[in-house]
Amino acid sequence: MLLCERCHQQHEEDSKYWRCPCGGALLLHVDETRFPSQEALQSRPSSLWRYKEALPLRDGTIPVSLGEGLTPLVPLPWKSGRVFFKLDYLCPTGSYKDRGVAYEVTRLKELGISSIVEDSSGNAGAAMAAYAARAGIHCQIFVPEYTSAGKCVQIESYGAELVRVPGSREDTTRAAEQAASHTYYASHNWSPYFVHGIKTYAFEIWEQLQCTAPHKIIVPAGQGSLVLGCYLAFRHLLQSKIISRFPQIIAVQAKNCAPLYEAFIQRKEEPVQIEKQETIAEGISSALPVRGREVLAAIRKTGGEMLAVDEEEIKRGFYDLAKAGLYVEPTSAVVAAALAKLEGQGKLLTSETTVAFLSGSGLKATDKILHLK
Ligand SMILES: [Zn+2]
Repeated sequence: MLLCERCHQQHEEDSKYWRCPCGGALLLHVDETRFPSQEALQSRPSSLWRYKEALPLRDGTIPVSLGEGLTPLVPLPWKSGRVFFKLDYLCPTGSYKDRGVAYEVTRLKELGISSIVEDSSGNAGAAMAAYAARAGIHCQIFVPEYTSAGKCVQIESYGAELVRVPGSREDTTRAAEQAASHTYYASHNWSPYFVHGIKTYAFEIWEQLQCTAPHKIIVPAGQGSLVLGCYLAFRHLLQSKIISRFPQIIAVQAKNCAPLYEAFIQRKEEPVQIEKQETIAEGISSALPVRGREVLAAIRKTGGEMLAVDEEEIKRGFYDLAKAGLYVEPTSAVVAAALAKLEGQGKLLTSETTVAFLSGSGLKATDKILHLK
């Protein structure tokens, strides 16, 4: 069943809606009382499909997979604390988006969809192009003109049709929506399935920490899929009576584009209108998050908080990570900038388990990194 987050209407799962007729975002309803036992997990595949109870498919469906998931969780001494880094930039296409896209494309294939349109700032486009190639689905990807050359070359190499759109990220979305009037709009931001694939990173963190929930999880936030994924996963573990408390979700935005952060500190329920400025954290440069209301509610329900970091802090964060051996795209560096902020506020504690999420590979953003100094 697909549930509308705005009008709460329910739709059949096979209805092929990418959005509710009311204009609201749809989310797949999943039974959160079913989760594999620790014993069962021992013999499951080394991929996100080990959590199949939380990723419902029709009987007999073989997932569209490139082996995504089970990325390393690496403990490193970090300033005054000890932080576990989740290296999700090691996913098959170089970003965490593979998780969401693997589940979304598997569902689209089940629904018999043979041609899709997607828009992306780069990483989701690359993931969609790769999984569409794996599934034999025709794929057209719209990207903003400013997207890193590395991401564009990657998308085209998978055989997808690439369309560069002048103007803002929002102009790209409008162009893709228009093109999708003839085919299926597989937007990862609107997809009822994408965020369920994303949530598997949080199941993994729980499993990799000897089946315990950490105290804090720090994630970059643009549309907020990492926030929602984390919230859904830990809510699932709570409903299944496997854990007894949420970890605090700490979501980080670039100061130059922070509609969620502004809403959070102003105690508002919806993202606020902002004057967006350019940021080197291109992956989280979203002025109008589709599920902004749900993202804000999720952070608050976990007792978490939001931080905003400026361009200089992001650059410093990038080099802090690189000097620890972690080569990520500038978007991921916002979590290192957030760690520095938390330390300054006395909130990076050795008595707590803190996990920092690294979302995309630096190898894709070489042209941007060249100009960082
Ligand atoms: Zn609706």
